Amino acid sequence: MTAVANSSSSTLADFHRRSIEDREGFWREQAGLIDWHRPFDQVLDYSKPPFARWFLGGETNLCHNAVDRHLSTQANQPALIFVSTETDQERTYTFAQLHREVVRMAAIIQSLGVVRGDRVLIYMPMIPEAAFAMLACARIGAIHSVVFGGFASHSLASRIDDASPKLIISADAGSRGGKVVPYKGLLDEGIALASSKPAAVLMVNRGLAPLERVPGRDHDYAALRERFFEAEVPVTWLESNEVSYTLYTSGTTGRPKGVQRDVGGYAVALAASMRHIFCGNPGETYFCTSDIGWVVGHSYIIYGPLIAGMATILYEGLPIRPDAGILWRLVEKYRVTVMFSAPTAVRVLKKQDPSWLTRYDTRSLRALFLAGEPLDEPTARWISEGLGRPILDNYWQTETGWPILTVAHGIEKTPTRFGSPGMPMYGYDLKLLHEQTGEELGANEKGVVAIVPPLPPGCMQTVWGDDVRFVNTYFSSIPGKLAYSTFDWGIRDADGYYFILGRTDDVINVAGHRLGTREIEESISSHPAVAECAVVGVADTLKGQVAMAFTVLKDSGMASSPESAMALEGDIMAVVDRQLGAVARPARVFFVNGLPKTRSGKVLRRTIQAVCEGRDPGDLTTIDDPSALEQVRGVTGKR
Ligand code: ATP
Ligand code: MG
Repeated sequence: MTAVANSSSSTLADFHRRSIEDREGFWREQAGLIDWHRPFDQVLDYSKPPFARWFLGGETNLCHNAVDRHLSTQANQPALIFVSTETDQERTYTFAQLHREVVRMAAIIQSLGVVRGDRVLIYMPMIPEAAFAMLACARIGAIHSVVFGGFASHSLASRIDDASPKLIISADAGSRGGKVVPYKGLLDEGIALASSKPAAVLMVNRGLAPLERVPGRDHDYAALRERFFEAEVPVTWLESNEVSYTLYTSGTTGRPKGVQRDVGGYAVALAASMRHIFCGNPGETYFCTSDIGWVVGHSYIIYGPLIAGMATILYEGLPIRPDAGILWRLVEKYRVTVMFSAPTAVRVLKKQDPSWLTRYDTRSLRALFLAGEPLDEPTARWISEGLGRPILDNYWQTETGWPILTVAHGIEKTPTRFGSPGMPMYGYDLKLLHEQTGEELGANEKGVVAIVPPLPPGCMQTVWGDDVRFVNTYFSSIPGKLAYSTFDWGIRDADGYYFILGRTDDVINVAGHRLGTREIEESISSHPAVAECAVVGVADTLKGQVAMAFTVLKDSGMASSPESAMALEGDIMAVVDRQLGAVARPARVFFVNGLPKTRSGKVLRRTIQAVCEGRDPGDLTTIDDPSALEQVRGVTGKR
């Protein structure tokens, strides 16, 4: 193993500079953080831009690095801690136990005809078997495609067709807020709707919902687990650039894109991020509240913490059930040192009694990382003051697999700045580019956040099965330059801190002023009555566009009468006037009980905008709660 540079020798700026100027030397060092069965011959092959191939010829395995590798030193230490407040279960698997379960699952999967390179679709709730399934696929070189368990048959069918899986692994049901959500009916419907049919379906029966088996196709996990109880399945060594998994983006801005990821680059990127960004140590506990259906769940519930030798908490449940202290109770109980959640979860907590934040001993927590949506300053302050622990925003995408912008306290204790996720991470040659001219912008100029390729290890290899879509979608939007567009709009201050201002499509043009919806949202959120809000630009014959705001109050009673609503609307507009100027003042501030969001908790601004403009909102398969959209229709009179 080579030595890996760290804090003692470097500032973040130096570290970053070296990662770009001496790309190969830098990543060769980072590659020493994982086990290689066969060393790589070449760090990077960038002979076909924008396609990058990392660690050519190297052979490794994600499951080996996440599980087997720790058996010699940590066999009896916790690896997977399953907590379900839905079914009142709590179970800890040591690395040795996790290893056994993964091997059994791998044997089952192989017995159902799956070989290296085959796809396995995983449609499961947050239960240990889901983790076993992912790791078992990784072990034998099968490509997993995890589909979020909350999706219904239509979304499932399109993903089945995209992946053409040989096997689907599922369960009888999930559970949300104490209500059983049966999966099997949706699964059967999804398979019926899809043109590609899996040869086999493996069902985990939790005993929550009735299970009707399709003879010849459906298999019972418990029975097969018995059969393969003592099985041995060695790790299949994979060339670094073989495919580990495919995963879809959240679909906030349209049809989700199928991201394809490699093996070696991903393992190295995660290992490096665990050390430099998350600062997690072997034997400690990591708690990420996301879902395995999202990239955060792949990288920081399953692979990242385990690769780092940490125990990882797999949590099935809501942040406020049985009460709003549940997350902190788990932090106390398992002495969590690193936690990862989303602003949307914090905003849910913000509507609860703040004293929940201090009822448990959370001093083990070194940092709470938040990602997925802009973290507005009031929410960041609320949680950081309430908890008294450092809050670290981090900005990235399904496409990149690990943070693009944050602070890397493993390298340097750079201070954080409210409203900013931080600075470009090593490996990312990040630029702000003018969307029309492609010109590079300087400090305090707004532009598109873009990455000059090659993308670093861990980032997507291509769009699954569609190289042309990869190039056309991501690398063709900025004129005159080969650059990866994040489709986010941002600004950098004089000290190098970036601020994300919204999606490039969310830029509002009011009487010639370019405003990110984020800026207006941030201002509205600073009003003490507001829990969260969404601002969209709506076509206006006079001004081109006007801003419309949809606001969720901490206490909905505050706008229960027309008079109180009107007074509050005026109050909120006055805040925006004061902070941003009258030009940014929303034409209307509507009060709603909830915002239309994706299942991953992202606000569907484009959908709200379509409704406000009386257009068809299009594909709604990723929406979480359709009644929230109905309410938008109701308050705007666009029914
Ligand atoms: P789609 O690409 O299908 O429209 P999506 O972009 O929402 O969906 P994800 O990959 O899950 O899918 O989300 C990445 C996006 O989330 C980023 O491009 C950015 O807009 C937003 N985001 C993530 N983290 C942050 C953050 N810390 N601050 C601001 N925005 C963030
Ligand atoms: Mg996106």
